[in-house]
Amino acid sequence: MVRGHSVDITGLLSGSHQVMQVEDEVPIDSFDGIVFGRPARVRLRLRPADGDLEVQGSVDAHAAGVCDACLAPIEFDVQGNVDERLDLSPGGSADPFGDSNVLVGDRLDVADLAQQVVLSALPMGVRCSTECKGLCPACGADLNAGACSHT
Ligand SMILES: [Zn+2]
Ligand SMILES: [Zn+2]
Repeated sequence: MVRGHSVDITGLLSGSHQVMQVEDEVPIDSFDGIVFGRPARVRLRLRPADGDLEVQGSVDAHAAGVCDACLAPIEFDVQGNVDERLDLSPGGSADPFGDSNVLVGDRLDVADLAQQVVLSALPMGVRCSTECKGLCPACGADLNAGACSHT
């Protein structure tokens, strides 16, 4: 997939900029049945710190999926906070062959970072409401709509 959402951090690395603000809206790939119908809003502050790149900010996404208990369609907001230090030294996290590839050369891949942040912030087993009764394990009836013969 071609992603155009990356920022050039050459100015930060050369020391001509002290801090860099990034605001972008990036599409998030669907994951495990959860779909992100509109782009996530990304706000980042980049700052060089002792040979690392400090990345702080937030990613706000809007997700659509199904209730873990009754399978009703639901939509919910996902907010992830970013507070990372990317090691710029060879073999560090900025290494394109390392575990994290959000930094490629002198560009920060905002879309890839946002994707990782949103997925790690996704709650497991989201329900349509805390009172959701789920489905009957015997017949699959939606118990929110009323009791079945098994209850
Ligand atoms: Zn439910
Ligand atoms: Zn039943």
